[in-house]
Amino acid sequence: MNIIVIGGGPGGYVAAIRAAQLGAAVTLVEKQHLGGTCLNVGCIPTKCLLHSAELLEDIRRQGAEIGVKVTGAEVDFPQVIRHKNDISKKLTGGVAGLLRMNKVKVVDGEAAFTGPRKLEVKKADGTKEPMTADAIIVATGSVNARPPIPGLRENPNCIDSTGALSLERLPRSMVVIGGGVIGLELACAYAAFGTKITVVEAMDHMLPMLDGDLTKVGVDHMKKMGMEFHLECPVQSVEPSPVGAKVVCKNKAGETVSFEAEKVLVAIGRKANTEALALDRGGIKHDRGRILVNERMQTNVSGVYAIGDCVAGHAQLAHTASAMGEVAAENIMGQDSVYDESTNPTCVYIEPEAASVGLTEEQCKEKGIAYKVGKFPMSANGKALILNGGEGLVKIIAGAKYGEVLGMHIIGPRATDLIAEGALAIRLEATLDELITTIHSHPTVTETMREAALHAEKRAIHTANR
Ligand code: FAD
Repeated sequence: MNIIVIGGGPGGYVAAIRAAQLGAAVTLVEKQHLGGTCLNVGCIPTKCLLHSAELLEDIRRQGAEIGVKVTGAEVDFPQVIRHKNDISKKLTGGVAGLLRMNKVKVVDGEAAFTGPRKLEVKKADGTKEPMTADAIIVATGSVNARPPIPGLRENPNCIDSTGALSLERLPRSMVVIGGGVIGLELACAYAAFGTKITVVEAMDHMLPMLDGDLTKVGVDHMKKMGMEFHLECPVQSVEPSPVGAKVVCKNKAGETVSFEAEKVLVAIGRKANTEALALDRGGIKHDRGRILVNERMQTNVSGVYAIGDCVAGHAQLAHTASAMGEVAAENIMGQDSVYDESTNPTCVYIEPEAASVGLTEEQCKEKGIAYKVGKFPMSANGKALILNGGEGLVKIIAGAKYGEVLGMHIIGPRATDLIAEGALAIRLEATLDELITTIHSHPTVTETMREAALHAEKRAIHTANR
């Protein structure tokens, strides 16, 4: 079986390796850099900045209190960026090594469809080569969306997430357009480094993918970090300013307000990176560029699959892309594999971290599911108290009758690691009782999950059973 994978991000390279493991001859076409958005300008670079920021914040906020006095702790911003580049390089080099080890042929070039299951690849040396295979996996990812705001394109101080990850100098001020995950993660990092952050958001709330209780804790913390938020404040235009740029908005009361800053980070979302692919020539159905697939990751064209950020109707996350990549490869190689969204966690690396898997209370209500809720505050957990002063909470949602875990929502220290227990519980159709009868080690933040399960059954030990 010959397979061509288009794109070497966490969707494409994982699909290529899985297909090679199952015996396929795989060619991976990548037009820019192996590792895709995730390793080069996405997940890993942002988490590098956030780790530097977190260390600085910990020293400043908690250091003296816990007996670690550091005088003169400050950010060396060019070194933050160099460290981020080093980590990216290590990981992308690792991907190249894994592909070699699995005998995947890598072609540097840009692929476009010339017909159903037919491609032309424009190579780095300028030559063009027609290519076809028994199966093609499209994994071309996404790019930052640019809203049609007057004055935005013309202003060099308006940057996107990629620009914010490679600034040469720490800006004194930054307006962030958009209160979603990417905007707020970068805002948290820059706020900790000392940049004055103003967030403007058109909707009446931020982080719409999170349970409302979690968002409140996160926003309260960001306010304590000195960040300013303006909700229901859509941007009308961007004007030149001696400072850098002036963002003109209409506030809730209908008044015109403006915010000046050295840099404006535009973080209003991402769109499928399929423009150069000529999907229509390939006969592939899509919704404004996002490819339509079934749960086996098949498109409407036989032998053509699509995965990751470029497909319609799913979260744009690295682990989503990788999971879809394995499903596509396995189906092509004759196995029967389906993509199951129910165990897919969403993680937000703000301070404190937040993570969510499965159904929220709002979704249970919408679906008419009878449910019960258990909550446990981080302030009642010894390890969380040690780590961050006990800020945050765990919320567990379970079926009213059998107690099967339907959702887990966490904000607090290590939330993005803890969420794996919730995902596994959903995958195994575990019940509250099964979480309760699993012994959790002490002192760890994992104890909060068991305590939340106990609370749902009105038998919490370390909090009131209300
Ligand atoms: P990509 O990683 O975008 O890879 C697609 C690849 O295809 C690219 O390398 C591109 O060059 C190549 N390509 C495109 N067109 C062609 C063509 N015609 N021919 C050949 N090659 C082509 N997700 C998380 O899960 N956790 C996070 O913490 C997180 N943080 C993020 C932070 C930021 C700032 C951003 C921007 C994203 C973040 N994401 C995060 C999202 C994550 O990066 C993406 O969901 C993930 O990279 C998608 O993987 P993919 O393989 O679908 O696409």
